[in-house]
Amino acid sequence: MFSQQTLSLIGTIALIGVGVFIFTLLFSLGAVYLIFRDKKLVEKIHSTTSHIILDILLFFLDLSYIPLKKIISLTGRNGNRIDVVLVEIRNMLLRKSFAAVPYEDRLVLVPQCLRNIDCKTSFNSVEGARCLGCGKCKIYDIVKKAKILGYMGVYIAPGGGFVRRIIKEKKPKAVLGLGCAWEVNAGLVEVSNQGIPVQGVMLLRDGCVETDVDLKEVYEVMEYGSKQ
Ligand code: SF4
Repeated sequence: MFSQQTLSLIGTIALIGVGVFIFTLLFSLGAVYLIFRDKKLVEKIHSTTSHIILDILLFFLDLSYIPLKKIISLTGRNGNRIDVVLVEIRNMLLRKSFAAVPYEDRLVLVPQCLRNIDCKTSFNSVEGARCLGCGKCKIYDIVKKAKILGYMGVYIAPGGGFVRRIIKEKKPKAVLGLGCAWEVNAGLVEVSNQGIPVQGVMLLRDGCVETDVDLKEVYEVMEYGSKQ
């Protein structure tokens, strides 16, 4: 059916494709391993080279996201490591533009799992939920900090679609989102694709209830731009 020449061409193209795929996987695996061990590496790459290096890294990691996650899980480690690394890179690439937005145009989105189990707030599909100020969880501290800085608001997100709705409704010029690694990574992609500078802070302990976050890290990100 096919001539010897055509078959040999198909074979060569297939071999090159497999080679490129294996190279992408190995390169990405190495990058995840190194950056996960030393998160400061992202900052070092950014400060010593052009951001293009981080853009290329991001491209490779996004390209091999699903197989890489599976490979990492097969080695007995948490597949979310790739999300952690992607969040570190995306945060670094978007930090400057986030810091340039005035506090009053920034919004903070926190996950509902950060609430205390006895939280009495109620949810509304458009506005999510607002903290009632009982002080039983760290959302209260984040709300207080946002008020001091003059942020446009802190919203408790009931789920994924909420991010799209609240951005449409409030039209923030920058967003800070808290959540587990994969959620923050997905949020960074979604919000930045709308042209809005965004930063993410990953939870210290994730799960469905009473999760935890490093307040010092949240405050530090909220204050980006204050020293300019
Ligand atoms: S501090 Fe706010 S969010 Fe936290 S449990 Fe109390 S009312 Fe709910």
